[in-house]
Amino acid sequence: MSAVSFESVKGLDYADKSVWDRVVYKYGGKGASLMRMTAMGLPVPPGFTIPARTDSLHDWSQIVDFVKDMFPSYGSGTNPQLLSCRSGAAVSMPGMMDTVLCLGINDANYPSLVRQMSPPVAANTYCRLLKGFGTVVLGIDESDFPRDYGDVDAFKVVVGDRFPQDVFEQLRVAVDAVFSSWKNERAVEYRKNFGISHELGTACTVQAMVFGNQNENSGTGVCFTRNPNTGVKELYGEYLCCAQGEDVVSGDRQGVPVSNMPEHLFKQLQDMCTVLECEKRDAQDIEFTVENGKLYLLQTRDAKRTAAAAVRIAADMYAENIIDRATAVCRVTPDQISSLLRAQFATSERREVVCMGTPASPGAAVGRLAFTTSRAKEMTKVYDDVILFRPFTKPDDVPAFFVVRGVITASGGPTSHAAVVARQIGVPCVVGTGSEMIDSTSVSFGGHIFHEGDVVSMDGATGEVMVGALDLVCPDSDSLDTFAETILSLADEICVEADGLRVWANADCSEDAERALKYGAKGIGLCRTEHQFFKPERLKVVRRVLEGTGGPDDLDAVEKFQRGDFYDLLKTASGCPVIIRLLDPPLHEFLPDCEELSEENPMLGLRGVRLGLLRPEITSMQCRAIRDAYVRLRDEGMDPKPYIMVPFISFPREMKVMRERIETVVGSLPIPVGCMIETPSAAMQSDDLSMYADFFSVGSNDLTQMALGISRDDCHTFVGEYVEEGLIEDDPFVTMHPVVARLIHAAAIKSDVQSFGLCGEHGGDTKTIERMARTLNYVSCSPFRVPGARLAAARSYV
Ligand code: PEP
Ligand code: MG
Repeated sequence: MSAVSFESVKGLDYADKSVWDRVVYKYGGKGASLMRMTAMGLPVPPGFTIPARTDSLHDWSQIVDFVKDMFPSYGSGTNPQLLSCRSGAAVSMPGMMDTVLCLGINDANYPSLVRQMSPPVAANTYCRLLKGFGTVVLGIDESDFPRDYGDVDAFKVVVGDRFPQDVFEQLRVAVDAVFSSWKNERAVEYRKNFGISHELGTACTVQAMVFGNQNENSGTGVCFTRNPNTGVKELYGEYLCCAQGEDVVSGDRQGVPVSNMPEHLFKQLQDMCTVLECEKRDAQDIEFTVENGKLYLLQTRDAKRTAAAAVRIAADMYAENIIDRATAVCRVTPDQISSLLRAQFATSERREVVCMGTPASPGAAVGRLAFTTSRAKEMTKVYDDVILFRPFTKPDDVPAFFVVRGVITASGGPTSHAAVVARQIGVPCVVGTGSEMIDSTSVSFGGHIFHEGDVVSMDGATGEVMVGALDLVCPDSDSLDTFAETILSLADEICVEADGLRVWANADCSEDAERALKYGAKGIGLCRTEHQFFKPERLKVVRRVLEGTGGPDDLDAVEKFQRGDFYDLLKTASGCPVIIRLLDPPLHEFLPDCEELSEENPMLGLRGVRLGLLRPEITSMQCRAIRDAYVRLRDEGMDPKPYIMVPFISFPREMKVMRERIETVVGSLPIPVGCMIETPSAAMQSDDLSMYADFFSVGSNDLTQMALGISRDDCHTFVGEYVEEGLIEDDPFVTMHPVVARLIHAAAIKSDVQSFGLCGEHGGDTKTIERMARTLNYVSCSPFRVPGARLAAARSYV
């Protein structure tokens, strides 16, 4: 593959995305941006780029010819031309690979350089070459060099005779070092972390040097066309007078804001930024150098930005007609939108990670450890920052979820009880850390012993648990700002026009529903009625009802709670569908001490419809509560829209009987009756089930468990390693496994119902939404995930 000069590819149509993508893939982001800026007539020092590769260069003679032709005075005895040699891959990997500057100086041409520049500048430049070459090519430690540039002899002593006096040899080994830096440890690690292919390789750009360190009329800087922290439209960056690029990047010297540059240069820079933004149609991060009063551009790339800035820049650029609706929606990721609603650690914070679990509910938290729910509640009376650690969680633990900053468990996967409830509430949660309680007041996190009251930090988005208190950055309010609202309404427009997927929310109470509607949910896709009993006074009564040890008063009391809850929920969501699921309490969690009902395999035991069929008084009680709440609201002039959903169906006949019983209570009221598809049996018999169901909702948590034969509560014991080893692509309880997706497609095709939705935890996962957007009518997820899901849904139609 041959190198090309920036000039020779001026005629390409860079605005054509497929052309641009090809150029970036072949010549890396840096090479491509220099070519494009040259084509735009912007002031770019001349140069050429050798295409990306993962190994060293074999045909060196071609490069020598190129340099001789393009830079005849490279390294010559009089007025030597100096060159830079820079790495640059298709995907930006800032600082991970190498660059060597100021190539082309040797002892023979140095006196000429001294005359050409000035003695101190020439010395400074030679020292930079010796140090850059020494560290990158010869592997010498940076600290072996003198700190200040200037004493050439002192720098020469460090490199010794390993520094070639032949300028073409300098260039050859520098190019080699740049290509080899693709495989250096930090670059490999970076690619692993960011999922960048090891096959891409880096390109190598050889370019004429310009010198910002010439005199007071020279300098160098980095500038963003919009503020990368806030997104505000203003030039944001630093200018360093009489300096070279690495001085800015290394942070050795403090620059001044670019707006303090000499006025005419700032004006030129502003004009160039406008031209570049219009051409690239995105905020740019620009590197520039001023040599003797002339401004040169050395790089432009799409600017990295915070989530808040990404949202604002996309909304502003849409309003400024720089980008269209689809582009605006694709410029913001669902994760970025979601992150606006939760606390995060300051990016500069160093993390001393003691153990990793499964990220279960995003958000960062810092707090003192408590090991029991009662201690957590007591401690929150004294401190407002407590983190609850439990080996696993039971319904009794849930009240503490509302008062602690975060929850960590030793076992459980991302659809375990703790994870589901934490996401619903919006409290950060890490599950399946594999940690061990040593005694009642101490725990071992990855071999580090922590006692009650010790401070830890946890990140529910990455699964990390860290020692001590890291700095938190908290959102200003629990509402999205107008920029986010703009992007989300554009997303909704796209979904409506495509007659595509709608986003509903899982809400167990009216507060959840209120939040869900505020974040744009169009319905409530799942109210888990067993979650309405977490309060201790309710738990006692419902336990007696489930055990069958209570009297009629207990059933009445439960009916009264339920009637009130359904009334509040339906009133809050008046006008929107609200799917209320009949009880599906995992008995081992709700009745941990009841020997009579104890089961070896409770997740496949007496739960869902099985309980409803064998305990018809519970089904009737729930249906009465729904009916009465409906009638009261209707009579008050509201628009309640309850749906009744039967969980854990395996056989069509279960549904037939349940429907008859439900209809006995609700009669001819307009309350649709449907069921969950959460067993492979239900999925495969969806046609027969359709006879008794008005709607279906996929319970993908249980369906995944049963389709793949992986326990949703114990998956942490091996799923992480399976993903790491590449045995499966993703954690199947986070991102829907293709086999489960196939079952759902098959069920959807055969079924004849009013709506076919999904309410498992996968409903808030971006990849799942993109995969399922053409199969489902809606996804239902926890309220905090609604904005991200709206964006993900729209992105699957553009
Ligand atoms: C499911 O199984 O996906 C579901 C929504 O039900 P639950 O998580 O309550 O079992
Ligand atoms: Mg389920």
